[in-house]
Amino acid sequence: MPTATMTAAQRKTFGQLLRTEREELDQQILALSGELQEVLDSRGEASADDEHDPEGPTMTAEWSTLSGVHGDVLAHRDAVDRAIARIDAGTYGTCLRCGQQISRERLRARPSADLCIDCARATEPHRY
Ligand SMILES: [Zn+2]
Repeated sequence: MPTATMTAAQRKTFGQLLRTEREELDQQILALSGELQEVLDSRGEASADDEHDPEGPTMTAEWSTLSGVHGDVLAHRDAVDRAIARIDAGTYGTCLRCGQQISRERLRARPSADLCIDCARATEPHRY
C-alpha cells in the first residue's frame, strides 16, 4: 500500500527541520574554514623555516582530516539545500530514483534524504 502524499503541514515541519539543520551546517562550515585557515597559516610559517619542521607531517594529517570533514559538511549542506528546494516545489519526500514516497521514518532520521531506503541501498551500498 503506497504511503499517502505528505500534507502541507508535514512539509512545513520538515522544512523547519531542514532550515535548522542548514543553520547548524553553516556554523560548522564557518568553524571549519577558520580551522583550515589556521592550519594553512601555520604551515606557511613552517615552510618558510625549512621542510624538516617536525610539525610538518602532523600538520598535513590535520589538514587532510579537516578538509575531508569540510567537504562532507559542504556536500551535506548542498543536500539540505536541494531538500528545501523540493519542499518549496512540493516534491519533497518523493524518491528521485523510483518516484515512490520516502518513508516518514527515514525522513525524520535524515531530512535531506532524496532516495527511498531501497534506492539508497542500491546506489550507495557502502553507506548502509
Ligand atoms: Zn526509490
